[in-house]
Amino acid sequence: MSSAENELRCNVLRCRKMVGVEGRAVVTACSHIFCVPCAEQYFSLSQACPACDQLLAEPDDIVMSSLAPTTEYKASILAGLTPSVILEIAARAMSFWTYQTSQENAYLLLMLERSEDAKHGLESQLNHCKHEAKCAANLEGQGELHNARSKIAGECLCFRWALTQRGLLAELDKA
Ligand SMILES: [Zn+2]
Ligand SMILES: [Zn+2]
Repeated sequence: MSSAENELRCNVLRCRKMVGVEGRAVVTACSHIFCVPCAEQYFSLSQACPACDQLLAEPDDIVMSSLAPTTEYKASILAGLTPSVILEIAARAMSFWTYQTSQENAYLLLMLERSEDAKHGLESQLNHCKHEAKCAANLEGQGELHNARSKIAGECLCFRWALTQRGLLAELDKA
């Protein structure tokens, strides 16, 4: 896997930069990984891990790691070590990788749940607005009906008055 395909992210939640992009990262004894700028920022202030607060006081607790090792580096880095040490280093690196990917999955799942909650919240808000709009439209409709009724009533009065006038005229004609 080349460094660009490395999908691990800086464990500072506000950062989460993909560490593979830079080709280097800082790893800790507590199985956390940070991009170089975050590591410089946090470890210049304190020896506590920014992700889990563990004190990293030993010389090899905080290590700059090349994520794009050259072939020559790979050829020599474990050379001369006994098979048990070689396997121990590989096993520790594998559990580091497994821990990081499982943490990332848990984080993404949490984000998904939060966005689902936010979606439900927005949906119920939308339904509430729809209901309010419907009520407002009904009230408006009732107002229009009322206006139409009084208009009709007014017209009826005029009509009656006209009829009365006509009746009076007719009686005058008879007289
Ligand atoms: Zn970072
Ligand atoms: Zn840590």
